[in-house]
Amino acid sequence: MATIVFDHITKTFSDTKKGGLFTAVDQATFEIKDKEFLVFVGPSGCGKTTSLRMIAGLEKQTEGNIYIDDQLVNHVHPKDRDIAMVFQDYALYPHMSIEQNLSFGLKNMKIEKAIINDKIAYASKILGLEQLLERKPRELSGGQRQRVALGRAIVRNPKVFLFDEPLSNLDAKLRVQMRIELAELHQRLGATIVYVTHDQVEAMTLGQRIVVMNEGKVQQIASPQELYARPENMFVAGFIGSPAMNFIPALIESNSQLRMAEHVFEIPINQREQVTPYIGQEVMFGIRPEHIHLDQEGDVDIRVNVFEHLGAENLIYFTFNNHSVIAKVSGEQFIRPGEQVKMTLQMQKMHLFNLETNQRIG
Ligand code: ATP
Repeated sequence: MATIVFDHITKTFSDTKKGGLFTAVDQATFEIKDKEFLVFVGPSGCGKTTSLRMIAGLEKQTEGNIYIDDQLVNHVHPKDRDIAMVFQDYALYPHMSIEQNLSFGLKNMKIEKAIINDKIAYASKILGLEQLLERKPRELSGGQRQRVALGRAIVRNPKVFLFDEPLSNLDAKLRVQMRIELAELHQRLGATIVYVTHDQVEAMTLGQRIVVMNEGKVQQIASPQELYARPENMFVAGFIGSPAMNFIPALIESNSQLRMAEHVFEIPINQREQVTPYIGQEVMFGIRPEHIHLDQEGDVDIRVNVFEHLGAENLIYFTFNNHSVIAKVSGEQFIRPGEQVKMTLQMQKMHLFNLETNQRIG
């Protein structure tokens, strides 16, 4: 078992530049389930690493309680938390062989040699390191070094694995490969994994659930599907998905009609109840680029500003009601800049947000 609970966790640092205090994590409350792969994602400086370090005990929270398996660990030393952390820079010992790197922690724990050998054999087998045990870290590729860092965590057989941007030093192709390996490893080990990244694609592909953070605050905790389909606020809506969701101010004219300048769109039947309190008010209309289609019958006439061919898909940039909008269309659809085309907005897929609170409507 390995559940982790954050109960109203706040972390402040003294702000050396401005004086006073800086809040890195603000009243975070959530539960990580046993054997879950949970990913923290958010822009640089939003408090992801600080959250991870508090789980490990490397940073002490200013307020709130942390529980691991229902045990309050506020005062439990990092080495007694049964947690292994894998860092961005791997932190391998350069003068030791791979085998020595893997066994170092275990020898310090005074574990028997035969047991150490078994653990190293197991970890090297699942990570494909068997042929590399005699080498030094400098004789390995980036991906192999990454696997050694993982191996060092695996041999300890901890309750929880913490990963802090472990793939960020790898090139794009290797990153994709390691991502698949990590997902497989999670299934094989059946361990609780908490993973930090600023890369939303990594978060969406690895996480069973994702914690989206911004400026120290948890914005939403949900499955990748839920974050994509029902973002709770404009930050999550704009952060998850690539290219980002388009936002255009709109007026709710009635519970069935939404106006954007001279265009009037029909509000889908299943959203009419939620918009009723907003009749006569401005809201923020959101639509993802993949939900805008080229359509000869479409009721939105646009002039293409920029056309980008990406291979499997193409991006069309245009201006709508003085707002820049992107549509993602199939790779077979080619348009020239300057061309006039018709588009359809897939209204069933629209998102509406309260302009004052930035929260989702409906
Ligand atoms: P990144 O993706 O850039 O690593 P992050 O989301 O992991 O960012 P944190 O490392 O958790 O962000 O930092 C959150 C905020 O707290 C940042 O503004 C950072 O400057 C600040 N911070 C972190 N550690 C300290 C510290 N020891 N002293 C003062 N401020 C700190």
